[in-house]
Order: sequence, then structure tokens, then C-alpha cells
Amino acid sequence: MARKVLILGVNGFIGSSLSWQILTRTDWEIYGMDMSCNKIPHCIEHERFHFFEGDITINKEWIAYHIRKCDVVVPLVAIATPSLYVKDPIRVYDLDFEANMQIVKQCVKYKKRLIFPSTSEIYGMCADKEFDEYSSNLVLGPIPKERWIYSCIKQLLDRVIWAYGAHEGLDFTLFRPFNFVGPKLDDINDAKEGSSRVVTQFIHNILHGRAIKLVDGGKQRRSFTFIDDGVDAIVRIIENKDNCASGRIFNIGNPKMDFSIRELAETLVDLVKTYPDYKHLADKVVFEEISSEEYYGSAYQDVSHRVPSVREAKERLGWEPTTDLRTMLKLTLDYHLLHQDYELNALQTK
Ligand code: UDP
Repeated sequence: MARKVLILGVNGFIGSSLSWQILTRTDWEIYGMDMSCNKIPHCIEHERFHFFEGDITINKEWIAYHIRKCDVVVPLVAIATPSLYVKDPIRVYDLDFEANMQIVKQCVKYKKRLIFPSTSEIYGMCADKEFDEYSSNLVLGPIPKERWIYSCIKQLLDRVIWAYGAHEGLDFTLFRPFNFVGPKLDDINDAKEGSSRVVTQFIHNILHGRAIKLVDGGKQRRSFTFIDDGVDAIVRIIENKDNCASGRIFNIGNPKMDFSIRELAETLVDLVKTYPDYKHLADKVVFEEISSEEYYGSAYQDVSHRVPSVREAKERLGWEPTTDLRTMLKLTLDYHLLHQDYELNALQTK
């Protein structure tokens, strides 16, 4: 059956990649809304892609109409950048919680399937070696550590969605991205110091001849996940073969890509040296250690390690990530340094 999928935030990092995979792998229709469309030129031309330029806090009628019209709702509008959790927590709350709760309630009302982005951030400072969807504790710091507002908001959304599933029959799936990285993550030209996610920030710093700042020495670890791998899991969730994803939570991450931030920085610098036009910049780069307090302020608290268990995704979705660190970073650098046409390039190299 051809499905109608509503994607809010369709021009975002996940939304743009998800749309492209849906259009190329399935026969589903996409109804997508976003405030801009710079990341989706290939989708816009497609006959099964219907774009509306709008804002989820304003265009409520368009959204209500399309929730009724579609089979599956994927609300991806959210601020998911740690530096903004400490700089503007109220804005994070208004958008990530208030605006999204309206969408959740309409999915309940119109009995639509909801695929909702939770986050790896939800596990906070959990001590487990691998974070498990059903047994790991969610460990956050004290209230003045404002970094945790995002994690806390997502936790409450997860709990409310779970409750609607258990008590009012909502068909839902929660998915938790673990540090997705890829060509369209953030705009590297916009990556002012401390305003972007780590890979974009480091690329920006290398290209602008600035020091790479290793917060607290860069010992903290993340499991990075290539966007195409991550989105493959989301397509499988929407597909929901034999109801494999209904009422479930999935970590979407790559446990084999567990690296320290310092290792990430070193690999990036190494790779930039392989681009003749940019080698001179990578040769000059310096690493500077900086305390998290100085970099983010006192409202920040870091996560020391973050490795997902992906047993649930393997067993239920038949999913496994395949892209390694160097390939992931190379594809991201190709996009920024050589050409801005990732979809075309991916098609040509298939
Ligand atoms: N980080 C860093 N230097 C930077 C930016 C980030 O050392 O210029 C660190 C940050 O403190 C965190 C990690 O990189 O430990 C990942 O940060 P990111 O903002 O990508 O997101 P997170 O994984 O914390 O959600």
C-alpha cells in the first residue's frame, strides 16, 4: 500500500535525508513542511513530494488538515544543539515541548501512526556501558545545569507518548538517534564558536584557520552514526513490516563507532590533508584544551560516554549500520569541500 507520510521539519538534517530515501526506495507520498527548502532541491522536483513553506508554531490549520490526510506523522522540528540548551532553554522548551505536544495530541485524536524522535541525550550520564531502551536508567544533573532541559523535555514526551499508546491506543514508535553525522548536519559557514555540533564545528575551525577546541581535553566519547545508516532504520520503522516497530523504542546508533572527541578531531585533520586545496589549512591546525565551563558556561555538564545497544533494532528491524568513521567523514568533507550535491554523487557511485 502506498503510504502518505507527513514530515514536519522536512528540510532538516534528518528530514532531508529521510525524504530522499523514501522517494528513492518506496512508492510513498511525502507531504513536507519547513521554513526553508535549501537542503531538498532534488525532492522538490519529485512528483511524490509535496512541499509547503511554513512554521509549525503558525501554520496550525495546514498541519491539522495534513495529519487527517496522512497515514504516518513524523514530527522532526526541534532544536537539538547542546550549545542552545544552555543559551536559550526557554526557546528549546517552547518549540521542542509545547509545539510538539500539539502534534502528538492530534495524532491521538485522529488515530494516526506517530514516529517520534526521542534522543540518545535522554540517557544523560547513565553509567551503563551500553544504553538499553528498556533497562538503562535516565540520569540527569541538577536544575541549574541547564543542558539537561532538552533531555528532560524529550523524556517527558517519550513518557506521554508511551502512556497514550498504553491507555488510548496510539500507534507510535520512538527512535533515538546517536550523534548522526553527514553532509547536511549544520551549515559550516554558520558555525560560530560554540554554536554548532562537534563535527561541523571542527570542520569550520579547520577551514577558518582557528584552533580546534577540545572541551575538557576531548576524552569524552560518542558513538557516531552516518546519516544514511540512521535514516535506513527510520524508513524500516515507517514501513513497520508485520508491526515490528509499533509501540517500541529503538536506539539508532553505531556501537562500533565509539570514539573520543580527540580521536574524531585527529581523524578529521588527517582527512582534510587529503584534499589538495585545503591541505595547507589542516597542516597548520592547532589543538587547544579548554574547560567546559569556559567553553559553554556553568550551566553545561558533559556526557562521558554514549554507546547504544542496537539489539532491538537488529532483531525487530533487521537493521545494522555499515559505514565506518573515515567513510562517514570523507563523504561529509566531499560535500563541503568538493561539491554540494550529495544525492547526485551517491547515485553516481552506486
Ligand atoms: N565539543 C568539543 N569542541 C567543540 C564542540 C564540541 O570538544 O568545539 C565536545 C562537546 O563538549 C561534547 C562533544 O564534543 O562533549 C559532542 O558535542 P555535540 O555538540 O556534537 O553534541 P552531544 O554529543 O554532546 O549531544
